[in-house]
Amino acid sequence: MPAHDVLIIGAGLAGQRAALAAAQQGASVAIMSKVHPVRSHSVAAAGGINAAISVDDDWRSHAYDTVKGSDFLGDQDAIEVMCSEAPQEVMELEHMGVTFHRNDRGEMDLRAFGGASMKRTAYVADITGQAMLHVLYEQLMKHHETVERYEEWFTTSLLTDDAGNCCGVIARDIRTGSLEIFKAKNVILACGGAGQAYRPTTNGLIVTGDGISMAYRIGAPLMDMEMVQYHPTCLVETGMLITEGARGEGAHLLNANGERFMEKSAPNKMELASRDVVSRAEQIEINEGRGVGPDGAGIYLDVTVVPRKRTLEALREIVNLGRDFAGVDITREPIMIRPGQHYIMGGVKTDIDGRTPIEGLYAAGEVACVSVHGGNRLGANSLLDTLIFGRRAGEHAAARAAGMAPPEMDANSQLKRDAEELEEIIARPRDGRRVSEIKNDLGDTMNKHAAVFRDEEGLNSALETIHRLREESGKAWIDDRGTVFNQDVLGAIELGFMIDCAETTVVAAIERKESRGAQYRTDFPERNDEEWLKHIDLTLKDGEPEVSYSEVTFTQWQPEVRKY
Ligand SMILES: Cc1cc2nc3c(=O)[nH]c(=O)nc-3n(C[C@H](O)[C@H](O)[C@H](O)COP(=O)(O)OP(=O)(O)OC[C@H]3O[C@@H](n4cnc5c(N)ncnc54)[C@H](O)[C@@H]3O)c2cc1C
Repeated sequence: MPAHDVLIIGAGLAGQRAALAAAQQGASVAIMSKVHPVRSHSVAAAGGINAAISVDDDWRSHAYDTVKGSDFLGDQDAIEVMCSEAPQEVMELEHMGVTFHRNDRGEMDLRAFGGASMKRTAYVADITGQAMLHVLYEQLMKHHETVERYEEWFTTSLLTDDAGNCCGVIARDIRTGSLEIFKAKNVILACGGAGQAYRPTTNGLIVTGDGISMAYRIGAPLMDMEMVQYHPTCLVETGMLITEGARGEGAHLLNANGERFMEKSAPNKMELASRDVVSRAEQIEINEGRGVGPDGAGIYLDVTVVPRKRTLEALREIVNLGRDFAGVDITREPIMIRPGQHYIMGGVKTDIDGRTPIEGLYAAGEVACVSVHGGNRLGANSLLDTLIFGRRAGEHAAARAAGMAPPEMDANSQLKRDAEELEEIIARPRDGRRVSEIKNDLGDTMNKHAAVFRDEEGLNSALETIHRLREESGKAWIDDRGTVFNQDVLGAIELGFMIDCAETTVVAAIERKESRGAQYRTDFPERNDEEWLKHIDLTLKDGEPEVSYSEVTFTQWQPEVRKY
C-alpha cells in the first residue's frame, strides 16, 4: 500500500507548485491526477499572471486593487501575502524557464487587465497557463526520485481516522479499474474548480468540483460558494473564452447601436472594469434589447481597433478560436460574445498556509478559498493564487510531516464502501435517466438561476431542481460496464460532486441577502456592509449544508463605495 509524507490530489499549477515545494523541503511526495498533468485545466489559462514587477508599481497597489475587486469580501491578510510574494514567484518561474514576453527594452512586458490600476500582467502571448504548466512539469521530472506520479488515477474519497483527521485517499486506476488505498501524513487538495456544474462554461469537462465535494463530505467547511464569476467575453454559441487580454490590448465592447456602453457603468475604466461590473453591464444591454445577433443575445467585442500586427503576436490563440469556432477573423470584424460561467471564488476554507480546519488536509488553487478573491476575482490573479498558496501549502505540509509518524488506521471499510458504490453504478438497470441528461439539466438550471442576476424565487426553484436531480442521480445509468478506461462510471461519481457544489452555491446565494461582487440579487440590489460584510461558511450536517458565518480580515483598507 503506497504511503507518503505529502500526497497532492491535482496536477495543475497549484498541485505541481505544491509538489515542487514539498519535494524541495525533503518530504516524500506523490502527485495524483485524473488526467495527464499537462492536460490539467491550468493549461487553458490564457491572458497572464499579475505581479507588481514594474519599477513604478508597488505590491500594495496590487493588493488594494484586489481588495476593491473583491468588493471588500477578500481577507486582507491573505491578499497581502499573495501580492507581496508575487514578484519573487513570477521571477522564479522565469528562471525555471517560462518565456514571459519581453518588451523592446528587454524587460518583462506587462499588459493591462481588468480592475488593475496599472499594467501588471506578465504573459506568454495568450498561452500563459500552458507555458507555466509545462515548465513546472519539467521541474517535477527533475525531482522524480522524491516525487511519485500517479497519472490517470481518480480519487474517489478522502480517508479519515477515528479522530476525524485526514490521512490519505481512495483512488481508482483509470487504466485498469483497480481501487487502492493511499496513506499519507498530509493530503493537499489541488483539484481545481467546479465550472462543469454550469452549462455552458469556459471550463473543461474535467472541472467537476471533486475536491470541494470530497472535503465537504468529510466535514471541511466551504466558504464564499455563492460567488461565481461570469467572464464578460465568451463565445455566444459555445461559451468558450476570449481572454481579457483582448480588452487589455484595447478591444472595445459595443451594443447594437454601436455604443461603447461601458461608459454608463464604468466611465473611468470602461472595458477594463472588474469582471462582475462588465458582465452585468453586458447583461443589461442584452436584457434591455440592445444586444446583437439573431436573437439579440450577444455583444460585439471589437478587436479590430488593436493594431493587426499586435493581435497576431499577442493574441494569436483567440485569432484561431474566432476563426475555428465562430467563423470570424477578429483582426477584421467584431466577434459576438456574452457573459459566461468561468470561475468560482468560493471553495474549501483555508488559512494562508493552505490548512483547512481538518488536521492533515490542505487545499490550494481554485478548489480552495483563502479568500483572496472575495466577491470577485481580478483577471490574472488566479494563476498567482495557485502558485503562491500551492507553494505555501507544500512547504507547510512537508514541515508538518517531518514531525509526525505515518498514519495508523484500517482503511479497508472505506475501500469497501467506495468499491460497492462503483459496482452499484455499473450494475444499474438501463431504465432511469442517463448521467449526461441529469448533468445537462443541472448546468442549465444553474445558468438560469444562479448566474449574473439572481433572486429568491429563481434560487429557490434551482434548489428544488437540484434536490430532484440528486435523487435521480442515485439511479442514473451508464453505458460502459468495463474496467479499462471506464470514464462513464467516473462521470457518475463526478455528477455527485457537481451536485454538492451546485447545492452549496445556491444555498449560500439564498442566504446572502444583498448584492456584492458576483452576487447580484435583484430583490436586494444594494451592498449592505452592516449585515453582510462577512463570509458565509457551509458545513455538511446530517446530509444538509449548515450555514455559519466568519469574519472578513481587514488590515489596511476599509470598505468604500466601489467605482470604476
Ligand atoms: C479558459 C480559461 C482561461 C483562463 N485564463 C486565466 C489567466 O489568464 N490568468 C489567470 O490568472 N487565470 C486564468 N484562468 C483561471 C485559472 O486557469 C484556473 O483558476 C487555474 O489554472 C486553476 O488551477 P488549479 O491548479 O487550481 O486547478 P486545475 O489546473 O484545474 O487542475 C486540477 C487538477 O486536479 C485533478 N483532479 C481533479 N479531480 C480529481 C480527482 N477526483 N482525482 C484525481 N485528480 C483530480 C485534475 O486532473 C487536475 O490535474 C483561466 C481559466 C480558464 C477556464
